[in-house]
Amino acid sequence: MPKQLPIILHPNSLLRQKSVEVDLEMIKSPEFQGLLLDMEETMKKKDGAGLAAPQIAKNIRVIVIFHDEKTIFLINPKITSKSWAREIEEEGCLSVLNDKGEIIYAPVERHKKVSCVYLDAQGAKQKIRAEKILARIIQHEVDHLDGILFIDRIVKNKK
Ligand SMILES: [Zn+2]
Repeated sequence: MPKQLPIILHPNSLLRQKSVEVDLEMIKSPEFQGLLLDMEETMKKKDGAGLAAPQIAKNIRVIVIFHDEKTIFLINPKITSKSWAREIEEEGCLSVLNDKGEIIYAPVERHKKVSCVYLDAQGAKQKIRAEKILARIIQHEVDHLDGILFIDRIVKNKK
């Protein structure tokens, strides 16, 4: 049975590290497959749109996203193209809470569309072309793998 994992909170140095890639052998291991399911469970229990492995204290390049009623696992994701067009929307993060323990939201500028290559849960190469909310989630989660939080990108003066 998948289990809910503890989510680490900002400030924490694990959220600020560059995470390492996962190899095929590791992807195929039962431990890793179990971790994917635990990450999915954790994201859903917390009502998150996405979760990156550093948030559960693992500095590996693994993301889980819930979009359009589907779970997508992205392993070693690389954003390969970004639209010139950007947009500003509010974002929040399961690892960034206020002193009452509530998620805070703030405006962040992101590319409207991105393409991303990654390995799926079976280790097969995939490519996704995303726009709007999904593009935003991918950019937010890939940032986590590079030690970047959305609070680093808050837009001070809304255009
Ligand atoms: Zn986040």
